[in-house]
Amino acid sequence: MKIYNTLTKKKEEFVPIEPGKVRMYVCGPTVYNLIHIGNARPMIVFDTMRRYLEHKGYDVNYVSNFTDVDDKIIKKAVEENVDATVISERYIAECKKDMEALHVMPATTHPQATQEIEGMKEMIQTLIDKGHAYAAADGTVYFRTRSFKEYGKLSHKNLDELEGGKRSLLVSGEDQKEDPLDFVLWKPKKEGEPAWESPWCDGRPGWHIECSVMSKKYLGEEIDIHAGGEDLVFPHHENEIAQSEAANGKPFAHYWMHNAFLNIDNRKMSKSLGNFFTVRDIIEKYDPMVLRFFMLSAHYRSQLNFSAELMEAAKNGLDRIRTAVANLQFLLQSAAGEMRVEEEALLAEAKGFADSFDAAMEDDCNTADALSAVFELVKFINSNTNESSSGTFLQALLDEVLTLADILGLAVEKKEELLDADIEALIEKRQAARKEKNFALADQIRQELLDKGIVLEDTREGVKWKRA
Ligand code: AMP
Ligand code: ZN
Repeated sequence: MKIYNTLTKKKEEFVPIEPGKVRMYVCGPTVYNLIHIGNARPMIVFDTMRRYLEHKGYDVNYVSNFTDVDDKIIKKAVEENVDATVISERYIAECKKDMEALHVMPATTHPQATQEIEGMKEMIQTLIDKGHAYAAADGTVYFRTRSFKEYGKLSHKNLDELEGGKRSLLVSGEDQKEDPLDFVLWKPKKEGEPAWESPWCDGRPGWHIECSVMSKKYLGEEIDIHAGGEDLVFPHHENEIAQSEAANGKPFAHYWMHNAFLNIDNRKMSKSLGNFFTVRDIIEKYDPMVLRFFMLSAHYRSQLNFSAELMEAAKNGLDRIRTAVANLQFLLQSAAGEMRVEEEALLAEAKGFADSFDAAMEDDCNTADALSAVFELVKFINSNTNESSSGTFLQALLDEVLTLADILGLAVEKKEELLDADIEALIEKRQAARKEKNFALADQIRQELLDKGIVLEDTREGVKWKRA
């Protein structure tokens, strides 16, 4: 398989550190709000990458963090007059619901920054001991950027250029840095903020250190793939490399993968610009699988513009696959018999589409071309099956299309239609579970309904539901 590596700016053959195993880390969201569909792009594309690697037989150890200590979380906690953990735990739970709806598999481990402070202090101490970091008078610890000779290798930036840019950005309080390029590893506590004791001052970690530490703890010092959105290349991933390689004395990640932005009106969708739709907004209007299909309809390194037209096209594309699957299942109900010779030849031809699918995925996870191969297969199925097809032939075609859809994480089998009364009964069961504070059961029921295309909305007037 070939992967485009941001580090070398080339497509490279993927060779794992340990045969048969993949160690993969994907930077996750900062949890202070419902995630928007821009945040869902890396979740969906790297989940698809993982599914493909697993399909090829790799054992994938997939780690994705939640950043649960951050200025924005603290601000929201102050606004609501609650503890910061109330905010982060709430939005981690909401994020997991969105991931589940979008068929993003749970990571092997979802570490949280606040649970890993000890490891962060240890790595910071190692960096100080090795001369790569220093504590300023007020207890802030900085990474000594120029001490890491390869700084800039991921973003392909030159240190002197960077310094020129940074000087004009100098803000107050930063004059205690040895060099404007140095970045924060640990910062002193401010009134009312969460803080931890440390040898330098009571305070909290800078953002970048958490990923270096969690990646090391759950995957080891040297990993195969590190991924995230392209806005993370600089400074986040550049700083992660500096911290990890300076502390461990080993190359950090072998392949760096970055997805391009999801845009709206040709601008990056982002919380700060306010031009976003949450995943929740979208899955109230569309089947979550339509959103997943839409994300996969472009190569992950191409920008993708969100629009109602493209969502309609995604809905139609998904429907085409679903109709072919439903037709096969319908024909199978009355079909019987073993495969005939001419069907064997047809099946061999159909396998060619699976080969095209694989070739597309092998080429830097090209899901757009992989989807085209699925459409070719669907077209082939539509024109080569009928009431006289044998059961074995139909089943083989069905298995093939379901396997490909499953690699893409797309549910394409027709959902069993629920009757209104059954829905109401399940909603009542969920309400009862919530009353008893059995949130796990309540969430399970919500998911069960979602899987059958029923979207719930908790409103002041009670629970409302609709068919997606
Ligand atoms: P954040 O919560 O902003 O740290 O973002 C979490 C993940 O979503 C990171 O990998 C970001 O790069 C990614 N991301 C944020 N906005 C977008 C967007 N508009 N398009 C694609 N990826 C994004
Ligand atoms: Zn990260």
